[in-house]
Amino acid sequence: METAKKGAMRKIAIVALGNGSAATARIIKAFYAQQENSHVRIYGLQNRVDNADIFYTEFGATVRDLYQSDTAIIALCAAGIVIRTLAPLLNDKGVEPPVLAIAEDGSAVVPLLGGVNGVNAMARAIAEALDVNAAITTSGELRFGTCLLNPPAGYALADIEQGKRFVADLLNGEPVSIDGDAPWLNDADLPLAAIAAHRIKITTAAQLKNSNELLIHPRSVIALIETISAEPAEDIKHALSAANIAQQSLACVVALSDAMTNMLLSDAANKLQVPLRFVSTHAALIPRSQNSLSPLFKEAKKNGVSLFIAEQPIDPNSIGIQRGNLTVIGLGPGAAEFMVPAAKQALAAAQDILGYETYVNMAGPFRADQVLHCTDNREEMLRARHAFELAAQGRNVVVVSSGDPGVFAMASAVLEALHESTDPHWHALNLQIFPGVSAALATAARAGAPLGHDFCVMSLSDNLKPWDVIENRLDHAAAADFALAFYNPISKTRPWQLGRALEIIAQHRSGDTVVVLGRDIGRPAEKLTTLTLAQLRPEHVDMRTLVIIGSSTTRTFARGDKFLADDSSASNNGDWVYTPRWYPLPPAK
Ligand code: SAH
Repeated sequence: METAKKGAMRKIAIVALGNGSAATARIIKAFYAQQENSHVRIYGLQNRVDNADIFYTEFGATVRDLYQSDTAIIALCAAGIVIRTLAPLLNDKGVEPPVLAIAEDGSAVVPLLGGVNGVNAMARAIAEALDVNAAITTSGELRFGTCLLNPPAGYALADIEQGKRFVADLLNGEPVSIDGDAPWLNDADLPLAAIAAHRIKITTAAQLKNSNELLIHPRSVIALIETISAEPAEDIKHALSAANIAQQSLACVVALSDAMTNMLLSDAANKLQVPLRFVSTHAALIPRSQNSLSPLFKEAKKNGVSLFIAEQPIDPNSIGIQRGNLTVIGLGPGAAEFMVPAAKQALAAAQDILGYETYVNMAGPFRADQVLHCTDNREEMLRARHAFELAAQGRNVVVVSSGDPGVFAMASAVLEALHESTDPHWHALNLQIFPGVSAALATAARAGAPLGHDFCVMSLSDNLKPWDVIENRLDHAAAADFALAFYNPISKTRPWQLGRALEIIAQHRSGDTVVVLGRDIGRPAEKLTTLTLAQLRPEHVDMRTLVIIGSSTTRTFARGDKFLADDSSASNNGDWVYTPRWYPLPPAK
């Protein structure tokens, strides 16, 4: 069954408006959680839905965003609501992900949009999981039992517009013949005839358009790049056209492993919209499956490109490895809406996820095919090396930190591990670091803008640096009148350090200096406290707290909700805190 778009990861959003659809949402989610190529999340309306992966407040904006980011939408509500919501977007060409409306109680499954992207296949699969019938309305699909315009992975339709006319002709009663190998049509209910004016043609050959032909190209050709020119994509196109092979029959581009870091290759593969794979030797080109490969037209080799053709469509994953990806991401403080979209995408594409157990759990839910490697918080260097070992095998690896990965977290450990390593495979993989909202920034935003002017960030932990260094830095930063943000302020094994730090600060700051304590910011137990330096005691602080000590100009004033009588929903106890962007001029001499 095909649930994903041509082997790529299919993002799926189950959108719920109320608790009435909880059971239906759960069944559909469980179904997709077992599918390798899909990434499924339940979106629940805030205050109406108790259990969801992501909570939203605006149905319209949320559904339109999902649509425009090519996410399949399974809306657990009336079809009319979905239609009205998406109507303004439907005139634009561009993405058309599958969109389905499903009755809250799971009694009706209605595919609405995304016919050529597999919406009917999704509708059938979901209907089966819910034990009902899908409301398929696509004539071709009903008549022939398959969508001719949506061939399975490994095959590409040459021209969709022509395909639509072709299907219309068949619906009009035209008989059809099949020329080539189309195993998925064996079960279809087509008006077959041995000789017919209309034919479905499956071939790797480039062909002229013929309105009586539905042309489908099997992706069974490999281009091996042996000499890298300035434009490998052009070389491949020339080689294909010299061999009379349709570009859509190209399954992947392959190069030798020592060229892994060459960006010309990845650009070329992107241009041709096929995966790029690497092999250590020419012999390794043989696919790891029963699919014999033969060289095609030696003369194509003069461009530095050799073509190979297989009997069956080629699964690019069966050839060599991809360039491994190691992505170090920050989850932000906790709440999913404060995670940057690039980090979410990296998580969706990850095969392996490494991190401290608490953070890995925070980054979930995960699919059954994703491997979690949870470790103790202190084993950072081991974890970093493990991540490189996995990524060097061509895997998509994500290392998670809370907040920002570069702030007292895994990005430095990962870079240190790479710096120490002489393994060329580690240096060849694609390492990226995606930022996150660090605890100091998240806490500051909740309080107002206490870091609105110059500030200094420190970890008070003396696990990895001498305490003398900390005292010295504190002394200077406090003397320089920076606002201060403290990470790792205290722990069971470091009980006295915060008290000593506060003594040093008190030598430079007055007792009425504003202090903000952010505990578990962005998480369910979030607590924000505003007090003064004179009031602050180490007992107010634990290792889940971020401490901000204001500068001499940091100030506070009452929040609006203090003026609202009896507003018990007002969530904020404290004042607004901010540090102005200016600084007082020294008195004129
Ligand atoms: N990379 C993280 C910091 C890791 S150090 C970041 O950028 O936020 C761990 C310290 O960060 C904790 O001791 C605490 O001081 C702070 N911290 C992390 N998450 C927090 C949160 N949600 N609320 C308050 N403080 C947090």
